[in-house]
Amino acid sequence: MNTDAFVLREFKGIPYYSCKAFEMIPHLHHGFSTRHGGAPDPKESSLNLGYLSWDLPRRVSENRKRLLSALHLESAQLALVHQVHSNQVHIIEDNAGEWNETETEADAIVTGKENIALAVKVADCMPVLIADPVKHVVAAVHSGWRGTIKRVLHETIDTMHRAFCCDPADLLVATGPGIRQCCFEVGPEVVTLFEKEFAGTGLTKPSLGTPEKYYLDLYKALQIQLHDAGVTADNCYDLDMCTCCNTEPFFSYRAEGSASGRMMAVIGFSCCPNH
Ligand SMILES: [Zn+2]
Repeated sequence: MNTDAFVLREFKGIPYYSCKAFEMIPHLHHGFSTRHGGAPDPKESSLNLGYLSWDLPRRVSENRKRLLSALHLESAQLALVHQVHSNQVHIIEDNAGEWNETETEADAIVTGKENIALAVKVADCMPVLIADPVKHVVAAVHSGWRGTIKRVLHETIDTMHRAFCCDPADLLVATGPGIRQCCFEVGPEVVTLFEKEFAGTGLTKPSLGTPEKYYLDLYKALQIQLHDAGVTADNCYDLDMCTCCNTEPFFSYRAEGSASGRMMAVIGFSCCPNH
């Protein structure tokens, strides 16, 4: 795994984390947003990208536009799904018409079309972006512990193979900011589920201070899926930053509760060289 493969960029006042290997692919644009760079509001001008009760819809909409513009995807259609902690993968076949993010329940989105900005919303759950530079297919994945148990990342790669003939060995995979083992305390019932699904892989360790509490390594569960799906370890890039212990740059639901905003991981081709 490459952990020094990201750079914090800023364009049009919007900071975002960018994976250097993805930047080498022509016409590909992507980024992992932070909490900074939003339109003015009563709450610190944060770049909240989720339609939450405490924020104004028009401000969220403006924030989304700002992020797409910063990523050079201003003319692309933003495509989101209603995230439900599943292993459902939604394929976007065309980019006509308005997109309604509440209509489709899924936790991963895949497309082979240009001018579509795939995005997942996160605040602790792991955001994963995938690019196939050969077939010009992209994917965005939202993987909290429930989706991870259901192997949503592995399912996404299988879908890319089935629907677009992507060779897993060609895929580049970037994992962004999410809650890491340092902060992800879980109860014994979650440990049991992970031990069943990922037997013998040592994803949890007991808390030293609190009986019946454990710390879960969600990222390691993603690594296992990438390996099982046939992705080359050298093509996997990890930002390796914990949202929960870095609330200056990031939103964290665990650290901030319902007052937390939402960040986005976004990816899309502005045009495909093959076409
Ligand atoms: Zn942490």
